[in-house]
Amino acid sequence: MKESNEVEFQNVVCKFGDFHAVDDVSFSIKAGEFFSMLGPSGSGKTTCLRLIAGFNNPNLGKIFIQGQDTLGIPPYKRNLNTVFQDYALFPHMNVLDNISYGLRIKKLPKSEIDSMTKEILEMVRLPEVGNRKPNELSGGQRQRIALARALVNRPSVLLLDEPLGALDLKLREEMQVELKQIQRKIGITFIFVTHDQEEALSMSDRIAVFNKGKIIQIGSPSDIYDKPKTEFVANFVGVSNLFKNEDAVRILKKKGSYMIRPEKLNITESEKKISDNSFKVQAKLVTQIYSGASSKIILETSFGTKLIVLSQKINSSSPIEVGKEFFVFGNMEDIHQIEG
Ligand code: ADP
Ligand code: MG
Repeated sequence: MKESNEVEFQNVVCKFGDFHAVDDVSFSIKAGEFFSMLGPSGSGKTTCLRLIAGFNNPNLGKIFIQGQDTLGIPPYKRNLNTVFQDYALFPHMNVLDNISYGLRIKKLPKSEIDSMTKEILEMVRLPEVGNRKPNELSGGQRQRIALARALVNRPSVLLLDEPLGALDLKLREEMQVELKQIQRKIGITFIFVTHDQEEALSMSDRIAVFNKGKIIQIGSPSDIYDKPKTEFVANFVGVSNLFKNEDAVRILKKKGSYMIRPEKLNITESEKKISDNSFKVQAKLVTQIYSGASSKIILETSFGTKLIVLSQKINSSSPIEVGKEFFVFGNMEDIHQIEG
């Protein structure tokens, strides 16, 4: 156990009856890290947060917080706070009272409570709403107040369980940027749960990808995106072209299983000579989906393999004909081998 680890799991198992919600999970999070747990619904993310917070206890394995074994330590004695998707603000209290609640419980002097509350309201950029009730705020404002209420207690770790899940896309994207800035500024450890791969990629220092109670891969956003370990990670985090078994032999002249991202593939109408370090395959156009900045082009080879190409060059004003033959090509350097 290294001293600089804020949170560490060692072979943690958490069961509900016979069901393994968290199944032999190990990881460590460094102080000040923005660490995301990413995975589909039911993969064990919330249970991991609850284990850290002390609301659940492991059946097997150990959990350390700042080097201390948490066995038997109740939630209120752990130096952390949680922000939930549903805000959980007190509806009858105004914003100032909501934020200062934890400080008043601790019986800090009033002047100190006032200045800490004011400072944190400025940090979440809502200095003017102190006297309003939660129902007089927008969804995005409520989520900022929930964040302020957690941060004002100066926890060493903040646990965030899908905190932006209830916000619409534009607001969610704004809050992603803001959350990340706030985390940088105050430098505390954020453990952020999400099922949204873009959110995890854009905010995190490191991501743990969960499936069925297990961590499949831990790494930086670019590790996870460019070098997914398995087919599950390749498909869950972004869109992938997978070339497995005979497909790999036909297209890449290699044995094994490989993936390449759609933005790394190109299409051309005429058969070009390609370099040694490239591959190409002939395919028919199935459909083209225009989405503003780029087009997604779906093709199929004569042996039935689907290919997805993301192109910024092809636009809606030059639609291409369904069934037309193209050559799809890419660089061998952009091909990444996966397990299985
Ligand atoms: P996630 O947050 O990734 O969606 P959870 O950690 O909430 O997943 O749940 C993981 C699995 O454990 C799910 O199948 C869920 O139904 C189950 N589970 C969670 N909490 C309980 C509980 N208190 N009792 C029984 N099953 C539970
Ligand atoms: Mg959950």
